[in-house]
Amino acid sequence: MQVDKARSFIGRFSHQSDLSESLTLLCKKESIRLGVFSVIGAVTSAKLGYYDQESQFYVTCVDLAEKLEITSCAGNISLKENEIFIHAHITLADHSGHCYGGHLMPGSSIFAAEYFIQELEGEELHRVFDRQTGLSLWA
Ligand code: ZN
Repeated sequence: MQVDKARSFIGRFSHQSDLSESLTLLCKKESIRLGVFSVIGAVTSAKLGYYDQESQFYVTCVDLAEKLEITSCAGNISLKENEIFIHAHITLADHSGHCYGGHLMPGSSIFAAEYFIQELEGEELHRVFDRQTGLSLWA
């Protein structure tokens, strides 16, 4: 489907706040119902998910209690049960440059995080349960 660019937001999230929660709260505060975003910065701990395709459950693949660089965090904003819902994936690097990656879960604490959010205009995208994958996907 075709979308158009709407408002853009750039800024920084608060030290020690939760990354996933900060993204959701900002989107709700600004009523961003459709969009894409990126974040770079650093965390003091992180929780990443991995979707097990066989069991169709998210498993916490990495629970990291260490200081890491957010080398990339990208995601999208759409609607799930008519609520603003963010979906983000993240790559984190340690002191030697080795990376961890996965689905961003609640429980990643910000050291510093700079975001860019691009709101999009178009038809609303609603996530609905998909029997084949067990995931809430765009209808
Ligand atoms: Zn994901």
